[in-house]
Amino acid sequence: MHFEFSPKVKEMQARIRDFMDRYVVPANREWLRDVEKGVHPPQVVEDLKALAKSEGLWNLFLPALHDDEPGTRLTNIEYAPLAEIMGRIHWASEVFNCSAPDTGNMELLHMFATPEQRDQWLKPLLEGKIRSCFAMTEPDVASSDATNICTTIRPDGNDYVINGRKWFITGAADPRCKIAIVMGNTNPDAEVHRRQSMVLAPMDTPGVEVVRNVSIMNHHSPEGHCEVLFRNVRVPKRNLLSEEGSGFALAQARLGPGRIHHCMRSIGECELAIELMCERALERKTFGMHLHEHGVVGEWIARSRCEVEQARLLVLKTAWLIDTYGVKAAHHEISMIKAVVPEVHTTVVNRAIQCFGAAGLSPDTPLADMWTWGRALHIVDGPDEVHRRSIARQEIKKTRETLGASAAYLTHRSR
Ligand SMILES: Cc1cc2nc3c(=O)[nH]c(=O)nc-3n(C[C@H](O)[C@H](O)[C@H](O)COP(=O)(O)OP(=O)(O)OC[C@H]3O[C@@H](n4cnc5c(N)ncnc54)[C@H](O)[C@@H]3O)c2cc1C
Repeated sequence: MHFEFSPKVKEMQARIRDFMDRYVVPANREWLRDVEKGVHPPQVVEDLKALAKSEGLWNLFLPALHDDEPGTRLTNIEYAPLAEIMGRIHWASEVFNCSAPDTGNMELLHMFATPEQRDQWLKPLLEGKIRSCFAMTEPDVASSDATNICTTIRPDGNDYVINGRKWFITGAADPRCKIAIVMGNTNPDAEVHRRQSMVLAPMDTPGVEVVRNVSIMNHHSPEGHCEVLFRNVRVPKRNLLSEEGSGFALAQARLGPGRIHHCMRSIGECELAIELMCERALERKTFGMHLHEHGVVGEWIARSRCEVEQARLLVLKTAWLIDTYGVKAAHHEISMIKAVVPEVHTTVVNRAIQCFGAAGLSPDTPLADMWTWGRALHIVDGPDEVHRRSIARQEIKKTRETLGASAAYLTHRSR
């Protein structure tokens, strides 16, 4: 078992860090200013994308690139520490064409698209020319149980007709978003896990309406987490992804590596929060002592370091499992990291906010935005409880298979 990154990863880490320090961090103010003025996407993102592409820091998230596709081939475990560095600024991953929801969508298209679909949608996504969204969640049904999804995708001659209302669809407000992967019901009479399918709906198809950008804790993200109405949206049958009834399985396939990416970016934010907290604790004095000299603040710092290290190791193990045995074999660990990381994230960022006092709540540090996103992560890609439910079910299943094995360890002491 090795706990050291390979020379290749160390070199990539140094290159990404250098790129972040030289170009992305200095551009953060411009990005924030543009977004405040309602300019989206800020020009600086497109400029930096061109630069990152020219330096070969492109599509790092996708292990299985074809020869004609731009990008650098890395495994999940090689990519994870790079995602962590990108995660320190929440818009930075787009510069490397490694941002959600496009990464998950590109993975899905990479695995399941027909040659025609790849040419039309995957190619421009991999080139960073367009963006995409993934439309599953609905306001009218509990969407953490995907079997509830009730948007209809009705076969009609050579077409499908989509009707339904989605919301929290990330990226749908971005003017560059050209394609939605829509999950809906193609056959209400099929077995419950075979009712759903996914189709590709170009955003300019008549009947697709982005109704509003739903704010997250009163914070409007520029790319939008949108309510989107699909009213009699007609797409050709060739826009079906994989086969009818496979929507549930595709949704599972999509979320594996995507969760690793979210988790590693969040760990990058945690690292930044610890750095900010420690610097503040070294500089600020109350009651004759620096903050870090107050026992409780030292405790926050120490606990944060331990928790972040634990979370990172679990995420890296999960990345290794995916690389070695595939997404299905890593299912248990994927649930674990999705339940563990948001908890560590909000706890660590919360401590950093407390250490900054009122300033921690102000827009003068990134902490308030970080906490808001961390809070959302407890729900995005499935709420914590659903992942814990899956972990518990797996543990009980294992125990059922060996029921009684722990009996030998029981100690019957007489009172
Ligand atoms: C910022 C953000 C971005 C998002 N982006 C997208 C996107 O791009 N595309 C997309 O399709 N969706 C997106 N979502 C939606 C997200 O995936 C769903 O909100 C999530 O799956 C939960 O569904 P729901 O909101 O319908 O909650 P519900 O299913 O109504 O669940 C509500 C609550 O019930 C509890 N609960 C549910 N099941 C259990 C259980 N088994 N045991 C105990 N408690 C339980 C949980 O606490 C849960 O939070 C996004 C959400 C956010 C916040």
